[in-house]
Amino acid sequence: MRQTQLLSPTLRQAPADAEAASHQLLVRAGYIRPLASGVYSYLPLGWRVMRQLERIIREEMDRAGAQEVHLPALLPAELWKQSGRYSVYGPELIRLQDRHGREFALGPTHEEAVTALIRDEVKSYKRVPLTVYQIQTKYRDERRPRFGLLRGREFLMKDAYSFAIDTDGLDASYRAMFDAYHRIMRRLGLRYRAIEADAGAIGGDGATHEFTVLADVGEDTVVSCTACEYAANLERAESGSAAGNGAGGREGSRDGNYPAPERFPTPGMRTIDELASGLGLKPSAVIKTLIYTVDGAPVAVLVRGDHEVNEIKVKNCLDAAAVELADEETVAAVSGAPIGFAGPIGLRPDVRVLVDRDVASMSEGIAGANAEDTHVKHVVPGRDIPLETVGDYRNVMEGEACPHCGEGRLQFHRGIEVGHVFKLGTKYSAALGAAVLDPNGREQPLLMGCYGIGVSRLLAAIVEQHHDERGIIWPRAIAPFQVHLIPVAWKDEAQRQAAERLYAELQQAGISVLLDDREERIGVKLADADLFGMPLRLVIGRSIAEGMVEWKERAGTGAETVRIEHCIDNVLEWV
Ligand code: ATP
Ligand code: MG
Repeated sequence: MRQTQLLSPTLRQAPADAEAASHQLLVRAGYIRPLASGVYSYLPLGWRVMRQLERIIREEMDRAGAQEVHLPALLPAELWKQSGRYSVYGPELIRLQDRHGREFALGPTHEEAVTALIRDEVKSYKRVPLTVYQIQTKYRDERRPRFGLLRGREFLMKDAYSFAIDTDGLDASYRAMFDAYHRIMRRLGLRYRAIEADAGAIGGDGATHEFTVLADVGEDTVVSCTACEYAANLERAESGSAAGNGAGGREGSRDGNYPAPERFPTPGMRTIDELASGLGLKPSAVIKTLIYTVDGAPVAVLVRGDHEVNEIKVKNCLDAAAVELADEETVAAVSGAPIGFAGPIGLRPDVRVLVDRDVASMSEGIAGANAEDTHVKHVVPGRDIPLETVGDYRNVMEGEACPHCGEGRLQFHRGIEVGHVFKLGTKYSAALGAAVLDPNGREQPLLMGCYGIGVSRLLAAIVEQHHDERGIIWPRAIAPFQVHLIPVAWKDEAQRQAAERLYAELQQAGISVLLDDREERIGVKLADADLFGMPLRLVIGRSIAEGMVEWKERAGTGAETVRIEHCIDNVLEWV
């Protein structure tokens, strides 16, 4: 490709709203342009990268035995009503009507559509296990589209769905996808983790793993162990005491000699920090009581003062649909006090009390007294707090012992979720009636798995990991062009001829080349080359008189000179 003909408008300045490096660089280098909030056009260089990514993903999906299909983006609302998601998916679902007033949605994901297809076309156990996939544009009206391609409202996803008649079949399909995802991440040269994740709203039982690319801009917190392989996202990571000690923890050490609970004034001390500094004690000496509304009912969650409640754990433990912090009125109604003074003793009797294991194992603590400006000391779990619902209800903290090996410490990283593999069970097949006849002629609902990769998000995540202050540094596997060929002075006859010859020969050898045939100053050309990020740069300057060409890898530091007649062989060896 000749650069004079390439639509690649570069910008000196990043757009003002671009916070993420990938967003800034992809716009500046002319790979993408915004059309509306969270909606982007791909220019030729951006689309070439996307095609490379798709190629790698297709190769690995095909190798894993999945078959490519293409489902509509325009989905009849009827299907979504059958699965029950039409009402619960919320404002992220883009809804529209046709000329007859029939309702549709733009597909944010395709469990319903694919389940309906398989329901109608697959009737016998002999046709499963079966995995289909597609690479398709998805629509989600995200509350906060941000970071360019990382969270768009229209984005490209590879989604795969597996169907099996028994758990062995489901496990095998899951495993094949899990392995394929690892291969994709490795081929792209990414630093990533496959982490145990929470099942979330898409719903179903069993395993789920997220593939998370490590990057500071990431919105997810990945917890991993310094010693063993344990990795989980923060929503899911188990606290060490929960995994290790069993309910009640060090209960045995309690000798019952603590004085009775005693109320004392704490004017204006609403937060743990105010309380700890006001009383001169550690936050870990306090029992924190948070009032939640769980599916409409009040629930109190007790965690140690230095810990944070994990709402997902609360939700899962109560098998609830919605968990949110209670409003002021509810707190006043159940505790008789303003926010900041709720405690376990004397709550309204209908309030369910969940006790975190690290609270259960405290010998005594200070808690809110359910009265304004008042706390209570000598609160002994087990004596003053019933320990009926003891569990792991908190976020783990950086530096605490690993719940699995007990030897390493937990460390936190920021990460971008780029892929998700998921066992759905019969959630959709049961709702939509997708069943096959088993060998005994009995109908069995199909067991499903679903497997997504955000292809456009992945593109941006790669840039997050592969860039420097001058621009993008594409891994060879997905670069838009392998070689950027740059004559220093296009007007110079010798340089131009050498460049044209090398350009033709490289292409003949099957190498993709971008030829900078612009009459620009060399400084401008090299700055653009750094911004674009092609893996190899060949510069033809004055030394072409001695038959020499400058060879510089974008990822490396130094440059070297090579004889022009060796260039082709060297490049073929390098790619
Ligand atoms: P997130 O928690 O980031 O919103 P999700 O859990 O909603 O992600 P899934 O429904 O599992 O995502 O979708 C599969 C994949 O699609 C994700 O792993 C991610 O890579 C990608 N993806 C999801 N939402 C977006 C988005 N708004 N823009 C770009 N990619 C996305
Ligand atoms: Mg989402």
